[in-house]
Amino acid sequence: MAPYKITLIHGDGIGPEVVDATVRCVEAICDTHGFSIEWDQQQAGENALLERGSLLPKKTLDSIKKNGVALKGPLTTPIGKGFRSINVELRQNLDLFANVRPARTFLGTRSRYQGVDLVVIRENTEDLYAGIEFEKGANDTKKLIEFILQKQKKVIRSDSAISIKPISTFGSKRIAQFAFEYAKRNRRRKVTAVHKANIMKFSDGLFLRTAEDVSRKYKSVRFESKIVDDMCMQLVVKPQEYDVLLCPNLYGDILSDLCAGLAGGLGMAPGGNIGRKVAVFEPVHGSSPKHAGKNEVNPTACILAAAMMLEHIGKLQASKDLKEAVAEVIKDGKKVTYDLAVGKPVGTSEMAGAIVKRINGM
Ligand code: NAD
Repeated sequence: MAPYKITLIHGDGIGPEVVDATVRCVEAICDTHGFSIEWDQQQAGENALLERGSLLPKKTLDSIKKNGVALKGPLTTPIGKGFRSINVELRQNLDLFANVRPARTFLGTRSRYQGVDLVVIRENTEDLYAGIEFEKGANDTKKLIEFILQKQKKVIRSDSAISIKPISTFGSKRIAQFAFEYAKRNRRRKVTAVHKANIMKFSDGLFLRTAEDVSRKYKSVRFESKIVDDMCMQLVVKPQEYDVLLCPNLYGDILSDLCAGLAGGLGMAPGGNIGRKVAVFEPVHGSSPKHAGKNEVNPTACILAAAMMLEHIGKLQASKDLKEAVAEVIKDGKKVTYDLAVGKPVGTSEMAGAIVKRINGM
């Protein structure tokens, strides 16, 4: 059988360590299931800027478009100034409209909870992440402030910066349909739409009404909605009550880190960015510069992202077995990284080695 061609981006900071660990585990699972992957290695992020003069080289984008599937490590984005997030650019450029972020507790994690099994489905292209911003003091900002005063009789202080929050019927319907289809396919019992429609009646209101409309076509899946602040409290008090969380972009980003925390930390949280033609899989965590190059972080998030990738290309059993091998190593607790270890932790590559050993012993 011809190998599956998949774009591989190591990324910045701890990216190369977790991606290398993941590649070893994926190759082991491919071997035991009789298929192979040909990695098409590409660059993005700080290393691409240094070597190719661009944070997101066209060659990388072309490779993802051509192969249709990519596995990537985290990319660094400086806060507040300089370039916009390459991750956001990647999602918008490839129209990766659905961000799927599962969070479940594995036996052996140091979580305060057991039995958490949540999936955040986050709209990935709109909302405050659309990148429409007006800088303090700029001419266009002054014009916008004047326009708002005229049209809405609302005073915005002249020393303000402004970010725009677009939410469309198209975007909301597409993500709501995705969430319900996901729930149906994965035998999930409930979809909870998260919003702040009591305050943002037009933008979040539209998101909520569209989700309600879509929910009527999926009688087998329960539907409810929660205001985002209440949702945060409910998740901390009784996370086991929730299942699929359907969120606009910003709430989805924040809630998925919260859910990762409930399930044992960012080292445990995988993600997939899915579009109609292309999908990019990655850990939820960032490049964590303080840990970079030390071979100490948890590779699980990236390995579980690769398991999502295998499921996406139709290798369901390989995906299940990879997750099982990870679960067994974590439950065993002897070869796990600092964030999971009760005794002496091992390094990233040693934990990957233990997972490969499990796979080969299956
Ligand atoms: P981060 O996720 O990199 O790290 C936050 C903390 O989480 C770390 O200090 C560490 O304690 C813990 N952590 C993260 N990954 C871990 C792992 N695999 N194992 C164990 N512990 C882990 O978040 P940050 O420090 O806010 O961001 C650093 C950079 O990453 C920023 O430039 C940010 O923009 C970028 N970022 C990129 C992505 C992405 O590429 N998808 C996502 C989030 C942040």
